[in-house]
Amino acid sequence: MSDTSIKRRDFLRVLGIGGAALGAGLTIPNVIARTENGVLVESKDEYGGFLVEKMTNGKYPYQCNLDILKRMSEKFTVFSRNRWDPARLNRPELTEDLEDLYLVKGKGKVPNRTRLDYAFMAASWCLANSRRYPSYKWDVQSGMVRFLKRINPHPWDPGDLDMSWEDASIVVKHAARFYGASLAGIAQLNPFWLYSDHYAPTKEQRARAIPVLSEGERFEQTDDAWYIPKSMNSVLVLAFEEDFQAIANSPGKLASAAVGNGYSRMAFTAFTVAEFIRALGYRAIPAGNGVGLSIPMAVDAGLGQLGRMGLLVTPKYGPRVRLAKVITGMPLIPDSPINFGVTEFCEVCMLCADHCPNGAVTKGPFTWEGKSPSNNPGVYKWYAEPEKCYDFNGFSCSNCKRVCPFNKPNNSWLHRMIRQIVKSKIRILDKIMVTFDQAGGYGEQLQDSKFWKMNGDKTITGREEM
Ligand code: SF4
Ligand code: SF4
Repeated sequence: MSDTSIKRRDFLRVLGIGGAALGAGLTIPNVIARTENGVLVESKDEYGGFLVEKMTNGKYPYQCNLDILKRMSEKFTVFSRNRWDPARLNRPELTEDLEDLYLVKGKGKVPNRTRLDYAFMAASWCLANSRRYPSYKWDVQSGMVRFLKRINPHPWDPGDLDMSWEDASIVVKHAARFYGASLAGIAQLNPFWLYSDHYAPTKEQRARAIPVLSEGERFEQTDDAWYIPKSMNSVLVLAFEEDFQAIANSPGKLASAAVGNGYSRMAFTAFTVAEFIRALGYRAIPAGNGVGLSIPMAVDAGLGQLGRMGLLVTPKYGPRVRLAKVITGMPLIPDSPINFGVTEFCEVCMLCADHCPNGAVTKGPFTWEGKSPSNNPGVYKWYAEPEKCYDFNGFSCSNCKRVCPFNKPNNSWLHRMIRQIVKSKIRILDKIMVTFDQAGGYGEQLQDSKFWKMNGDKTITGREEM
């Protein structure tokens, strides 16, 4: 064992992994070495075989400027702006509105937009869009709010079962995966990632927003403010893999089905995990895109890094995930953020920017500020322009995910390259490898006709055998 190698017991202590994890037979990553920022680990199960640096020294794989960074207003997300911002009123008509037309007999024969594809897409969104089961909409009216606030009055103590809080945190992530998450991580909630207000339009006032206050211990939604207790300072972040072949159909409707399927699974799982936590006697707020910014929470929770396209890139699934979260007062132990060379790779790769049909992804360097009112300045990163993304093809596009080398399962040349980046911190990459990969056909659109002839086992759960 080299000087930089560490013993398994030390590693478990550094990562806060306790007896319950071992007892439950959870896979423990291989430890390669200590680094300046933490430890280098490798795990096929957790990280898809990538070499990953777990940052255990309190650092994060991004920089913030606290003179610029402010909590973002939900009113300025592109979804909200579409409803009140005059600059968005003339946006291209959403082709998704044609859905009903395409479901009529005799319509919908265009490849990748057939009636079959539309039906597949429409069904995939049903749980996420349901008015009847608004699973992760914390702002829903009437009985739902009372339901969300109800908790068991006797908080569970893991010591009752000879478990530590490290063990309990693993148990909660285990439950999250049981209920349907592909990945789960825990972070201490950074209040900067909560929205400063909730966009709450009325008929009379389309731009109305109400402040979200998180300074005291009040837990309530009123017409004038939402109150999140300061003690709800943990966030469990959930990632949901999107089907590889369906995303490969982008910008066809099957890709939109993969997105809708992700949203519907988000709704079910976030709601169910939150209810599990409440049954243990702790407060929990399940959320999809609402309440706060999911991507920085996911980075803090060690699920991945931010890529050039402005999305989370995970080691196991690349950017092919959707995110939900559960904010809670349960004293969970945070995971470490990770670095697996995404920034260095994206500096050279550019594939998402080259294949974005609407110029939403920048080809420039990191900046502190974006170009869009929907960007939240103050983090040094690549800012994407969500309006351009939204306006292309009725928001059905996932081209950037389709072409990203991190999206490709078992991508051996990328594994080798990332290993070099992470171990030796080299910043110059061989773009020829990226080009060769494209020349080999990877990243091309998969036709719907081919998708429908595939064995269903090759969708989501069959990915690892590909
Ligand atoms: S989803 Fe499509 S339009 Fe949006 S950033 Fe990606 S490639 Fe561009
Ligand atoms: S396509 Fe390339 S540049 Fe874009 S996020 Fe993926 S690795 Fe980074």
